[in-house]
Formats: sequence, structure tokens, C-alpha cells
Amino acid sequence: MELSSALRAPEDFFWIDDLPELNSDTVNFRAGRKAEAVHRRAATNNGRLLFRLDGWIHDNFALPPLDWLDLSHETPRLAARLLREAWGLGSTNPAPNMVQLCESRGISVYGLTDIALAVDAFSLWHESRPIIFVSRRKTPERSRFDIAHELGHIILHHDRLPSDESSVAQESEADAFASEFLIPQAALTEYLPSLPRISDIFNFRSSFRVSAMATTVALHRAGRLTDSAYKRRCLDLRRQGFKTGEPNGMTAYERSRIMDHVFSTCREPSMTRTAAAAELSLPTDVIDHGTFKTQLRAVA
Ligand SMILES: [Zn+2]
Repeated sequence: MELSSALRAPEDFFWIDDLPELNSDTVNFRAGRKAEAVHRRAATNNGRLLFRLDGWIHDNFALPPLDWLDLSHETPRLAARLLREAWGLGSTNPAPNMVQLCESRGISVYGLTDIALAVDAFSLWHESRPIIFVSRRKTPERSRFDIAHELGHIILHHDRLPSDESSVAQESEADAFASEFLIPQAALTEYLPSLPRISDIFNFRSSFRVSAMATTVALHRAGRLTDSAYKRRCLDLRRQGFKTGEPNGMTAYERSRIMDHVFSTCREPSMTRTAAAAELSLPTDVIDHGTFKTQLRAVA
């Protein structure tokens, strides 16, 4: 009882013995290969607990069916363009709320607790459905990029689990996918002048809800900034605090439409997070973080 209340976990939590096994070697981790095994294990255990919530939500609510493309034979950037087209995003429009976009296509997104903070995000297939787990330890813009990166793994690496040899390549492929999905090269051409200034980069990142650094990297890669101009912009951004943060960026993390609906007080009968935690024998912390209870961004 004392341990139970210290962890804010229902007593039944300690008797859960039907969680599906999950081998952390078969999961795509973001920052994961750098994270120590103990952090990966903490994150996957957090994910295993959330399978209970995921199963419960699928049992009780009609969710959108899975709508995805297996683009494992395309280059990452072409795959990003094809998926944007298939999902009706156009070639130069800003990507909408990434949590809700994935949810609307049948891809679940859950949050991780502080115990999994050494891992930015990971994704896996569970019962023939892809699930993305994200920790919100960085800025909302980085969180959007993390989700797009995991989406890249789902679309590109469905049939290829990471091995030691392939994981570095898969990480850069997922990054390339995320960059093109959120910052399409065609949008850089359409919305930015030929030699973009810092103020142009700020305007673009605000419209596309991406980091100024990621925008600058994309501009350089697309040949829109010379090497020396790129270095100057990066130096400038670092001086203004953009290496570790996103000054004047998004003030809140993106909300989940599904979680807002599941835990809406307007719904009859309504369900609170505390009641769900008790029913599923899970710590309230796991449910609160898992369902993105707090959207506000912690200011460092
Ligand atoms: Zn990854």
C-alpha cells in the first residue's frame, strides 16, 4: 500500500502479468542508439503499459482505420512527398497538428513519462497497427519533428527492423523524411527569397511550426544558402539561444483530438483520467503523460 501510494499506482498495478513482451532491439528509437540500454528499457516498459490504454480505447471507441503507404522502396524525400500527396496535404502547405494528423490516419500517438526522458521518441507495430510514443522534453517544434521522424520509420522501414549496421542509415533516412514532410523543398522555393535572411527564416518557421535551425539546415541542403551564409546563420541562431531552445516559438504542445474526446466532460458517460488509471490498474502518471494531459510547454 505504501509503495502503491508513493508511485500513485493502483495496488492492482503490481499484479499485472499479461503485458505483451516487447524486445527493445526491435523498436525504432529516436536518440535511442545514444541512450543507454537502461533508458531504452524504461521507455519500452512505459510503452508496454500504454498498450493497455491503447487496447481499452480501441475497445470502447470507433477510431479511424489505418491509412498508410508502404514506401520502403522509395527514397526518403520522395516518400515524404508521396505521403503528403496521398494524405491531401499538397506540396507546399504547412503540415497540420502532427498528433492529430497521425490519429486521423489510424496511427496512435502516446506520451511518455519523465522516467523515459532519455528517449525522444520511438515507434513500433502492435497488433498490426503502428504506434508512436513521444516524450516532450524538448520544444513543441522538436516534438513535431520527432513525430514526423517516427512516421518516416513507419513508412520507410516497415519490413526492416534496425540492425547495428543499418540503424545509422535508418536514422538519417527518417530525418530526411521528416525534414521533407515538414519543410518541403518546394515550399522553401515558393515562400523564401533567393538568399533568405534570418527574419525570413523566422517567418517561415512560424508558419510551418518547425525550428529555425531545421529550416536553416533544409535551406542549406536545398542549395539556397551557400556554405558561408549557412555558417553565419547558424552562428547567429546559436547566439540567440536556438541551439537548445526555440525563442518566440510555439507556446504549447499539440493536442490529441482522440484523448480530448475520450476524456471530455461533455461526453456521456464521461470518463476521467483518474478513473481510467484505476480501471486499467495503471499509475496516474502513465495515463496523464500518455494522454497528453498537459499541453503547456515547460519553460527552461
Ligand atoms: Zn529513429
